[in-house]
This record gives sequence, C-alpha cells and structure tokens, in this order.
Amino acid sequence: MEFSKPFAEMSYKGLVYMTAPTIPFKHCFTTRWGGVSEGYLESLNLGENRGDKDENVRENYRLVLEALGIPPQNLCFTKQVHKNEVRIVTDTDRRELFSPFAYEADGIVSSTKGLPLICFTADCIPVLLCDPDAGVAGAIHCGWRSTVADILGQAVARMTELGANAGNIRAAVGPGIDMCCYETGPEVPEAIKKLIGHDCDGLFFEVPGTGKYMVDLKETDRRRLIQLGLKSENISVSDECTSCNCDKYWSHRRTKGERGSQAAIIVVG
Ligand SMILES: [Zn+2]
Repeated sequence: MEFSKPFAEMSYKGLVYMTAPTIPFKHCFTTRWGGVSEGYLESLNLGENRGDKDENVRENYRLVLEALGIPPQNLCFTKQVHKNEVRIVTDTDRRELFSPFAYEADGIVSSTKGLPLICFTADCIPVLLCDPDAGVAGAIHCGWRSTVADILGQAVARMTELGANAGNIRAAVGPGIDMCCYETGPEVPEAIKKLIGHDCDGLFFEVPGTGKYMVDLKETDRRRLIQLGLKSENISVSDECTSCNCDKYWSHRRTKGERGSQAAIIVVG
C-alpha cells in the first residue's frame, strides 16, 4: 500500500536528506550530515540560536537549497513556541537569517508558488502537507503541546481557506522521537485522549510501576490527520527515531540540549 512505502534517503555532494513518498512538491527532511558546522554542531545545523557561527549557518542553508535544486533565497519561517497557531504566509513573509521574527507560529501554510516553507525540529515531529491540485502547502512543527492543541486541525483549516480539500491533502510525518524513546508524565496521554477521543489504542502505554508513559507522537499525528479527513494512503510516516538514530539526526533529549536543528522544507508547487 502507498502509505507503507518508506521515506527515501537522498544524497547531494555529501549532504544527506530524506524525502517522503506521498509528497509531490519539492521537499526535504534534513539530517546532521553534509554541512560545515563544527564541534558538537557537526555538521548540518540549520538553527540560528544553537551557538553556531553565523557564516556556518548561512553556508548550511545555501547547501540545502542547492541540494533541493532551488536558487539562494530567503525562506519563510517563524519563531516556534509549541502552541497551535498556523499562519497563512506569502512572499512578504520571507525572512532573512538572523533578522528579528515578525511573529510566533508553529505552522505556516501558503499558496504562493515557489515559496519555501520551513519548520525546525530535534525530536519533535515535523509534518509537511500539500494539496497538489490546489497548489497549497504547509510546514507544521508538531511537538506534543502543539499536537494536543490540535495544530494539525488548524493547519487543515487554513489550507482549506486557501482552496485545499482535506480528502486531497498529502502528508508526511517526518523523522522524530518514537515510542521506544519518548517517555512522558501522565499529562501527555491524558491530553492525547482529549484530542483523539475513543481511538487511542496503541498511542501510549504505562511503564509498569513508574507512573511514566511511552508515547507514539507520530501515530497520534497520523491518526489526527485521518480524523481531519485525510486518506490513509495519502499519509506517509518516517520509521526513523531521532533519539535512536542520534548519529544521523539531532536529538534534543539524547544530547541534553547541546545540539543543532534539522529542518523540514517544502516548496509550494
Ligand atoms: Zn528510539
């Protein structure tokens, strides 16, 4: 079945990134590999606030855009704050690296052809969305707080305002922390129950005798997308855990915060 196809690993001049089988627009999920940053940020750090040299971050962006096959340009991204705001953006929302943020939002959607949308993660789940017929795309930062605040519902609503149809939206749930490594307190499964309702089978389990839970955030996001009207064959899910694969991906938990950021990028088609 379509949704069971794996993500593909792509390589361009040593830069390694993943692509999803369900997304027909130009896109990528970056890894740690192929950039110029050094030390604990070696080597593809795309975060501006991780202690990296400005010139290294700029060069890493230049390399990623070259790998994607698009000209150097400012991208569209915002300050992520683990809430559920999703903004509709256009060309005027492009932001120069290391310039102030105009606003906070954890998701952006657009129908401006050629506009690259980006979100950042290092264990949280990056979700890329597009409706190829309507020419609408989105990049959504889905940590647990944003997920349970229904940021994906906000994203689909904003995309619908731009002419997308949920039944035609393609989704990719990207590399992020998996159930094997994602231990939480009871507040996370309780909030997931409120979001998803009855259909919580397999989304979390209690670690006996600890009061802790192991949580499947990717499957929570996938299930929410289906509740929102997406077809399961239009959703692909990365099978890579950023914490288990911390040599390949930035993992906030594994590095105790001493880490770079990876990016999920989609270019509106
Ligand atoms: Zn893991």
